[in-house]
Amino acid sequence: MDEKPIDKEIILEELSEMHKLDYDYADGRILGSMCTEAHPFAKEVYFKFLDTNLGDPGLFKGTNLIERKVIESIGELLSIENPYGNIVTGGTEANLMAIRAARNHARKYKGITDGEIIIPASAHFSFKKAADMLNLKIVEADLDDNYKIDVESVKSLISDNTVAIVAIAGTTELGLIDPIEELSKVALENNIYFHVDAAFGGFIIPFLRRIGFDLPVFDFSLEGVCSITVDPHKMGLAPIPAGGIIFREEEYLQVMAVDSPYLTVKTQSTIVGTRLGASSAATYAIMKYFGKEGYSKLAEELMETTKFFKEGLDELGYEVVCEPELNIVAFNHPDMETNVLAEKLEKLGWKISVAKCPVAIRVVLMNHIKLSHIKELLEDLKEIF
Ligand SMILES: *Cc1c(COP(=O)(O)O)cnc(C)c1O
Repeated sequence: MDEKPIDKEIILEELSEMHKLDYDYADGRILGSMCTEAHPFAKEVYFKFLDTNLGDPGLFKGTNLIERKVIESIGELLSIENPYGNIVTGGTEANLMAIRAARNHARKYKGITDGEIIIPASAHFSFKKAADMLNLKIVEADLDDNYKIDVESVKSLISDNTVAIVAIAGTTELGLIDPIEELSKVALENNIYFHVDAAFGGFIIPFLRRIGFDLPVFDFSLEGVCSITVDPHKMGLAPIPAGGIIFREEEYLQVMAVDSPYLTVKTQSTIVGTRLGASSAATYAIMKYFGKEGYSKLAEELMETTKFFKEGLDELGYEVVCEPELNIVAFNHPDMETNVLAEKLEKLGWKISVAKCPVAIRVVLMNHIKLSHIKELLEDLKEIF
């Protein structure tokens, strides 16, 4: 730190120099990100709430009410009338809360001390962090030929120590939706906590279903589903950090509660103590501003671009890994190794992401990727040999 204060101008200049090193979503070159530029209105609202602290809700009754309303609205999208939960920093924290709830619930009601969680091989790495922090063993279920969790494999892995089964609605790498209805039944039959990770899919699947896309049910209308992760800062166009965790029962929050002596409330169930009210306010604003109609229109546009891209790849002789269910396309070329292809694209200025399971270039068609960018990309993919 400097000894003496420095002029704002100089500081701002320094910062903007460094900021220039960042890539800009608006260039349409960031192909693998699940985040995008937040909507300007959401950012405006975010600023207004920067000083609010949801860790001390007795002092911020209004912002606390806003968080409750956001949870209710997301709950409504997910077919639950009385949802519980929080707006947190992202999918990682949301998944951590879900798994913590599952572990504590199993400890309290079943006496399980050496818990295991069953997750698909396609699960986001946040579950590895959660298992590590919560001292749980990860048991990985196989994927079927279509890269979705294999229900038989899950059944075979259930043991007396299973504290949770996890499935994904919108996988990080391929955007696929696991057979959640079947797993909901398996979870109910075996009396096991069932968590659905819809960090990515939660803000697009309900809207695509609304406009007639043939996508499976993944939400609380399935009786076995205990919690769902949904991230406003991905498909919801809210500013970072905004994740959402929704629980079916208040009990799942209660089993995580610890005493919080110096605050205005007696207990706290969230992982984070002092936490942003701005995320909730911005999410509230953008959900109201878009409405179901706005999000459906956005979802439809993104799926059109996705279809255009997929068909373009087919025409050029690329192999698309699976028929896209959401706005993610993963592909390879039969005559070029994926990493070589990725390098060549990087050299042309594209910011590439390579999937691991299976190895493929993956493009997430977020709001910042317009049809014109995809046309340029297809042109480059044609010329690359
Ligand atoms: C992005 C993602 C996460 C992690 O979310 P963060 O906001 O990056 O913490 C978890 N699960 C899935 C399925 C995701 O796509």
